[in-house]
Amino acid sequence: MADPVAGVVAGSTRLTVVGSGDAFGGRGCNAAYLVDDRVLIDCGAPVHALLPRIGMDVASLDLVLVTHFHADHVVMLPILLGARAFGDEPRAGLTIAGPVGTREYVLGLLHAGYGRHLLDLVQERVQPRWVVLQDGSSASLVGYTVGAHAVVHSTGPSLAYTVQRDGGAVIGFSGDSTLCAGLRRIVAASDLMVCECSGWTAPTEGGHLWRGEIEQLIAEYPQTRFMLTHMRARGPLPGAIIAHDMLSVDVSAAVPSGDGGHDRATA
Ligand SMILES: [Zn+2]
Repeated sequence: MADPVAGVVAGSTRLTVVGSGDAFGGRGCNAAYLVDDRVLIDCGAPVHALLPRIGMDVASLDLVLVTHFHADHVVMLPILLGARAFGDEPRAGLTIAGPVGTREYVLGLLHAGYGRHLLDLVQERVQPRWVVLQDGSSASLVGYTVGAHAVVHSTGPSLAYTVQRDGGAVIGFSGDSTLCAGLRRIVAASDLMVCECSGWTAPTEGGHLWRGEIEQLIAEYPQTRFMLTHMRARGPLPGAIIAHDMLSVDVSAAVPSGDGGHDRATA
């Protein structure tokens, strides 16, 4: 298990996979990824309970990026907001960015789960700042450059992101996506692409990627390294790191493609 601070390679960006499983397979927690200890991408996993296991806390988060509104990517966000509001050290000021409708969706979840009183308390104590991202967005948020492209997944808006700190490594996040133009733009821009791979032996339903398409992307984008996640089944794939829950890697820019991966690997 990685030390969140002491193990960081100088000049690199720390990526932690909090949840690596697909929506319903039970082979890992649902989607959530952490960049350094400040940026969370999706919140399908019980982040508030998992971060303390690696010495982190939701209080350190400055930014949450939502890729889309499926429950396996966002349903634990009300819990995170509650943990932030009622933590030992409540900290106001959390930017939450996502597709149009993110604010209404997340506040609706919070209200449905806990009612008006908690909704008001979260607003008061967390003071979320809402940012709408869309296809082609490039935003400077809490010291990170966040790029967004629309991807084709299911109904409703879906975005894939790139996240970069201070000219460091660009880490891409597919969210859920088919092999579409927006996904290719994110892959092309990324040093490390954290890519969903819902199907292993065959294409899968619901607007997802499978192993055969990932192999195609690896061949098409040799400058991009791949980490596969959102998985039901797993196996080795040359040129890709296979994620598991709480895998933590230090990512440097412009790395060659390689094989394998392990805790505290340098990617
Ligand atoms: Zn999903």
